[in-house]
Amino acid sequence: MTDLIIPDSPRELGAPHDTWRPAQKEIYRQTRELSLNGGGILIAEAPTGIGKSGVVTALGHHDPITACVHTLPLVTQYEREYGFNAIRGRQEYPCNYDEKLEFWQDEWKEVPTVADCSFSSMLDCPVVQTCSYHIAKMHALTARRTVMTYRYMALSTAMRKRTGILVFDEAHDSAEELIRFNKLEYLHKTIAHHELPEFPIKEFGPDNKGALLGDAYTTIIKWLETCSKLLDTSELDHSRRAATRRRMKANIDHYIGDVLNEDDWFLQVDNNGFSIMALLADRIANKIFFHKHTKLLMSATIGNPAPLAHMLGIDDYKFSTFEHPVPAQYRPVFDLKFPRMSKRVLHENPKFYEIQSKGIQKWIQQFPPNWRGVILTSSYYKIKKIMEFMPENERRFIVQGQGQRVNDITTKFITDVRPGDIMVGTIQGMGSGLNLKGDLARWLVIASVANINPTDEYMKVRRHKFGGRTYEDWITYNAIVQAAGRISRGTRDENGEYITNYVALADGKATVNRAMAMYSDWFKEAIV
Ligand code: SF4
Repeated sequence: MTDLIIPDSPRELGAPHDTWRPAQKEIYRQTRELSLNGGGILIAEAPTGIGKSGVVTALGHHDPITACVHTLPLVTQYEREYGFNAIRGRQEYPCNYDEKLEFWQDEWKEVPTVADCSFSSMLDCPVVQTCSYHIAKMHALTARRTVMTYRYMALSTAMRKRTGILVFDEAHDSAEELIRFNKLEYLHKTIAHHELPEFPIKEFGPDNKGALLGDAYTTIIKWLETCSKLLDTSELDHSRRAATRRRMKANIDHYIGDVLNEDDWFLQVDNNGFSIMALLADRIANKIFFHKHTKLLMSATIGNPAPLAHMLGIDDYKFSTFEHPVPAQYRPVFDLKFPRMSKRVLHENPKFYEIQSKGIQKWIQQFPPNWRGVILTSSYYKIKKIMEFMPENERRFIVQGQGQRVNDITTKFITDVRPGDIMVGTIQGMGSGLNLKGDLARWLVIASVANINPTDEYMKVRRHKFGGRTYEDWITYNAIVQAAGRISRGTRDENGEYITNYVALADGKATVNRAMAMYSDWFKEAIV
């Protein structure tokens, strides 16, 4: 074991502050020890407010850091506040090749982005050394601290080759992000538009709901190879169509050469198009992990790390969990002792909708009417049922409508702020990075646990491949802890005391043993 000396001030290591928070220092110490002793994987459950970005920055003093985050605003935050070198997708950078700019100006009065590049290999461009994306990528490859989205990392072979420490921020979502962005999908009309042969399979799997690629693998690979040849061109063509064809070819070649194999891929075809998607995230994670000696996977909500580790193909790891900086009494979680609000139970007892909606109202009424809050359930239908029994009063309800995403209404909820507002939406997709600090939301109700759709063929096959439903449970219950964490941000009042934020569990499924086995300790200790 190598002795480790940690400076008194994290500023000496490049972080923008002078004192360590205890958990911050401990995560730094554990990751550095791994790094100094040959590397490994640390999964760290670090609740909101311990200063995770500061740890990542400090680690960059000794080892190159490659950090993956969910969104471009988070990339920008690492860049501006912590001095990271950022690399974004090609569409974020303008092309600056005069000949091409003039062509686009004449044709469309637009400036092309680097995604519209005229060269299959950018290095063939006569002005590549001044290309904004090429410069950013070269910096990102060699910088001490580099940040990008999971999407960028999933698709970039070059970034996988960076060495040093890999950081997955908000790691609870990492496997899903890598799977989502490592998907091959096209619409039939796009294929036809580019005069490529029709997708060779019209129906696939039981009731045409999709299945493992299996025997179709050879047919698909042959079709992809044919498409790749037809898309190949050595002509210099600045048009939009040529740019799209180049992107398609690069994408298809990526799957032929790097990704597809018979076992792990799920094919779905319908009248609109097709998609081929990985079942597990282990292969892509393995490629990303391969050149990094140390991996730090951090999230406020890990709970039981085993399902995530299995999904990412990790056998050997260390798990550390850290105290929530806000004492449990300031973020209590009440079990309202409601029945399970599952489809079967509600079908047999439709009265439970009314009982639940009125029970939630009663719980809310204990708070001052100007306090704002959030009710989360699991479907548009359940939102409708909750609202059916809510009284009409002077309070404003911001309700997620059919076809809307929850993020659409959270934006309104946090920007158009009125006292007493109540937001009602789905727990699915309740955004990463959403910070309902202070008075933005003083209470939150979980009105339904969001089960994975039992008829979804992809999920059925994935469950089988994974070896059971543990990962599904983990995702389902992790979403509850995530949602609770959105309102407990450690805000203090004018006397320096923590303000209290209240959570209620209004679905009996939220407290079953399977749920408790997945929850984070900081959440369980707050249940009263
Ligand atoms: S490499 Fe491509 S995107 Fe960059 S300046 Fe040249 S033509 Fe434009």
